[in-house]
Amino acid sequence: MLNLATFVALTNFKFNMSGNRTFTMVKPDAVADRHIGGITQMIEAAGFRVVAAKLTKLSEERAGQFYEVHKERGFYGDLKAYMSSGAVVAMILEKENAVADFRKLIGATNPANAEEGTIRKKYAKSLEANAVHGSDSDENAEIESNFFFSKTEQF
Ligand code: ATP
Ligand code: MG
Repeated sequence: MLNLATFVALTNFKFNMSGNRTFTMVKPDAVADRHIGGITQMIEAAGFRVVAAKLTKLSEERAGQFYEVHKERGFYGDLKAYMSSGAVVAMILEKENAVADFRKLIGATNPANAEEGTIRKKYAKSLEANAVHGSDSDENAEIESNFFFSKTEQF
């Protein structure tokens, strides 16, 4: 039998363990087209809990920092312009296996390849204007979360 202290310690360990949080943004096209509610509804219905949220706008420079991993790609200039073209909603989401499960929920980068039932299938307009961002690893989820939110804004 576990005593209470051990149970609490194990529960907290699981709660804090990497792997239960991911970062997302509702991108400018989806915000402009009034899909914040629809997208957030799909996210919550899939079992994610919103633990941080903010409507904000990236400068072109900040958008470039966020997607710095793509700086050698031909689409980087367009991506910076697009991601700074309007407001975005940044969120941190919590769920077991958050990063992988959220990538499944958003679907393929190119909506033409996104499966039925995914957010991008329903809301993305093009390969670039693809409605939502989702972190691709636990490490990037943490970096991206801290890019948008102070620790006191993460619940
Ligand atoms: P995100 O990082 O936004 O969740 P992703 O991980 O599915 O998207 P990435 O390869 O990281 O895809 O590309 C980042 C973003 O850059 C894409 O979501 C899309 O908006 C844009 N993008 C990717 N490839 C292209 C391309 N070939 N042409 C134009 N834009 C692109
Ligand atoms: Mg990516």
